[in-house]
Amino acid sequence: MNAGKPEEHPAVPALADVLISEVGPRDGLQSVAATMPTADKLRWIDALAAAGLREIEVGSFVPAHLLPQLADTAEVVRHARGHGGLTVMALVPNQRGAQAALRAGVHKLTVPLSASEAHSLANVRKTREAMVDEVAAIARLRAEAAPRVRLEVGLSTAFGCTLQGAVAEDDVIRLAEACVRAGVDEVGLSDTTGMANPAQVRRLFIRLRAAIGGHAGAAHMHNTRGLGLANCLAAFDVGVRTFDASLGGLGGCPYAPGASGNVVTEDLVFMFEAMGVSTGIDITRLLAARQPLAAGLPGEPIYGMTAEAGLPKGFVQGNPRV
Ligand code: ZN
Repeated sequence: MNAGKPEEHPAVPALADVLISEVGPRDGLQSVAATMPTADKLRWIDALAAAGLREIEVGSFVPAHLLPQLADTAEVVRHARGHGGLTVMALVPNQRGAQAALRAGVHKLTVPLSASEAHSLANVRKTREAMVDEVAAIARLRAEAAPRVRLEVGLSTAFGCTLQGAVAEDDVIRLAEACVRAGVDEVGLSDTTGMANPAQVRRLFIRLRAAIGGHAGAAHMHNTRGLGLANCLAAFDVGVRTFDASLGGLGGCPYAPGASGNVVTEDLVFMFEAMGVSTGIDITRLLAARQPLAAGLPGEPIYGMTAEAGLPKGFVQGNPRV
């Protein structure tokens, strides 16, 4: 049930049924204009680790002029590595980023690859095929320099693209197969623009598992249109056990005022725990981790229905409720 977690980081408690991968320090922070001071990031990550998060995407190795919010990622990686049992992950767009990430000591690399040709050209000025070649080069680099480091590809715009519109499911599956041939450990599907619906999520993850088996990775859902949790549940129902989420749903979508960015970690953990599906995360401590997040980003909206409403009377974590 540990969804391909690396054996060298036996961090997933045997009792946890799902792995919640916190992506707020990368996906969330890159989407807000303000830069969180490094000291606040470290306090936030400490609070997340204290709540029981076992995988955190702590930043991105891209040129600082492109994403000044994440310019301190190497320092954040070094700090996060101090938490025993935590898988420290960083996003890398290319070989240069992968080299920097490996030097900093990450446990896991995640590479975004657009399923939409239009998004790929606009975002990284490369065709999807050229990105598969880049992924293969990163896989070779990993094999030579750090064979114990895990390598994941997140297929972005897998459920639709704001530039191109619909994205062919055959394209998604073909790219996933190409990534596995290129030496990637896991391929996840990302609803980058919040266009997915539960029927589509079910269909595409079933096809993904049929095509690449145990290499099928995380569901990365955004809550742009309010379907984040429904899409995660749909993915869970067809066997997905790793879910990306962001504390406070950090990273509001500029095209949808009031909408949160990633699916809200607190609400996702509440959903699973209320169902009796163990996350290994202490929800009270998780809610407390909103404080250092808010302190580091004054004035930034922090979302989440569970935090607003509070835990239900008599709620016991991990106990199935009717
Ligand atoms: Zn995202």
